[in-house]
Amino acid sequence: MSEIIIEAFGYGPRESRVEVSILYPIPENMRGNSNLIKSWCMDLVLFTLQPDLKHNGSWGCEICSKPARETNFTTATWTHLPQPRAVVYIHHLCEAGENPCNQAIIAQNQMMAAMTPGIGPQAPAKIREKPEGVEFPLSASCCNCKKDSTGTPDARLRRCARCKLVRYCSTECQVTDWPRHKQNCKHIKSVKWVN
Ligand SMILES: [Zn+2]
Ligand SMILES: [Zn+2]
Ligand SMILES: [Zn+2]
Repeated sequence: MSEIIIEAFGYGPRESRVEVSILYPIPENMRGNSNLIKSWCMDLVLFTLQPDLKHNGSWGCEICSKPARETNFTTATWTHLPQPRAVVYIHHLCEAGENPCNQAIIAQNQMMAAMTPGIGPQAPAKIREKPEGVEFPLSASCCNCKKDSTGTPDARLRRCARCKLVRYCSTECQVTDWPRHKQNCKHIKSVKWVN
């Protein structure tokens, strides 16, 4: 197969979530090599797709509902199958590290990994290290400028008309981000909002 099916689930408070289906072409030199596809897919999710999977709603922390800045990404892959697949769980969180909300998500991830066939008890989670003193942008903020002022409840963000996923504060921001986002936008097949 020349494409991988990526199903991404983004979770916010009170069972709210977004379900995104992505059909991404596998680089030609990797096709048929499940280990290569696996590590390429992990990086694709964490770096290439990360802004689109984070900045798409007025997300609060899944556990405490405070404005979310952190995202816990867990990607499970089945790259050895005739049709390679990946499932991505994105948990919007107020804070990472020792924070009880983050600890609750880590425990939940471990439980899910233990119950998912083919994954085993170890969650295949990669962590984006955050340097000391750095604050990540609000998940609710504009996908381009990521300013806090664009992530307030009264900010009027508009979605990309094609994928209906990412949000921008202005036409300028959408135009500026287009060279980056278009690489992902065209592979987003469906977006479903729940609650
Ligand atoms: Zn929290
Ligand atoms: Zn903006
Ligand atoms: Zn788009």
